[in-house]
Amino acid sequence: MQVLVLNSGSSSIKYRLFTDEADGLRLAARGLIERIGEDTGHAEQAVVEPDGTTATSSDDAPVPDHAAGFRWIVGQLEAAGLADDLGAIGHRVVHGGSEFTAPTVIDDAVLARIEAQIPLAPLHNPANLTGIEVARELRPELTQVAVFDTAFHASLPPAAYRYAVPEALLDEYGVRRYGFHGTSHAYVARRAAAALGRDEADLKLVTLHLGNGASMAAVDGGLSVETSMGLSPLEGLVMGTRSGDLDPAVIFHLIREAGMAPEEVERILNRDSGLKGLCGDNDLRTVEDRAAAGDERAQLAVDVYVHRIRKYLGAYAAVLGGLDAVVFTAGVGENSDTIRAAVCADMDVLGIRLDPARNDGQRASKAPDGVVAVHTDDSRVAVLVVATDEEREIAEQTLAAVRA
Ligand code: ADP
Repeated sequence: MQVLVLNSGSSSIKYRLFTDEADGLRLAARGLIERIGEDTGHAEQAVVEPDGTTATSSDDAPVPDHAAGFRWIVGQLEAAGLADDLGAIGHRVVHGGSEFTAPTVIDDAVLARIEAQIPLAPLHNPANLTGIEVARELRPELTQVAVFDTAFHASLPPAAYRYAVPEALLDEYGVRRYGFHGTSHAYVARRAAAALGRDEADLKLVTLHLGNGASMAAVDGGLSVETSMGLSPLEGLVMGTRSGDLDPAVIFHLIREAGMAPEEVERILNRDSGLKGLCGDNDLRTVEDRAAAGDERAQLAVDVYVHRIRKYLGAYAAVLGGLDAVVFTAGVGENSDTIRAAVCADMDVLGIRLDPARNDGQRASKAPDGVVAVHTDDSRVAVLVVATDEEREIAEQTLAAVRA
């Protein structure tokens, strides 16, 4: 059987096709469609042969809507002879609220319940839903499964997920912390345990998903017990364009003193803040290059970014009551040796010792199995760099839901 994984954004669809083989899932094709609804579109696909070689195709014709995008994907897969055994589609859905704590086979009732979560994730869920609706309409015979970014964090205890606000706000408006990037945190935690040759049930891990969006999780015995994102992906770490933590009074201050509309403040905190707000650039590579060349604003942005992560790392070690490994993943975590070094500097208090010789220039993609250890031999805590693979995790969860 083959499983197609779709990650639908407002103007894009990213996808991967996996083939279920005797020794696990094999990536058979990956692709993306961008600029949906714009005058010029862009679509590309890479077919991955069993020996690892790839054959790419691309197309810059306009893609009027998500349905046209989905047809392009299926057409490409058919042309490559890859759509004959398609059995299921796994959809990434950002917010499952309190409703969805596991991958869920989609029917009309489930779709309505996902729609009901839109007020919790107005910036993310509508595009995910469009992808589901289009795929169900065009391929109704396939089993479709929703895999939620929030689900892995369903194990957070109330002490971690409650905000200290009146209970009625939880009951009536769902005001609590949910956490995101769950598929990634779950995947790298499992990979880390396997790399350490340990049972996940015996491990206390802190996982750092540092990409454009960024979050951390404290994982105790395989369960998420604390994470940095909250009601929405805005809470927590400094991100490319999101502020992460701030005093909520900042919002009222801007509404009252600067006369801003709530939507304007929301836009600033989501799109113009984070690294971009601090120094004008949101891509960490650019920020690091500027800082290395002596740019003080860029250096400050890196300092604020790293300081926030270190603060959380200490807090999570306390929450876990111990620490066996720190796991870096996603674009920044997998590639930036300088950020990893800065986060782990002077962390003897937590038992963390990074080995510069192992860390410098190291990338998760360089390791054949996507996992590299970068701690010293005498470090009490392991420091691992793990290549995340959210699509593979979604495909595995989709298969498990189909077979359940
Ligand atoms: P997304 O959240 O969009 O999936 P990614 O996980 O791809 O994001 O991470 C994107 C971030 O990773 C960007 O800030 C980018 O600068 C950073 N990044 C990618 N490669 C490197 C690198 N070699 N060194 C430093 N940062 C990198």
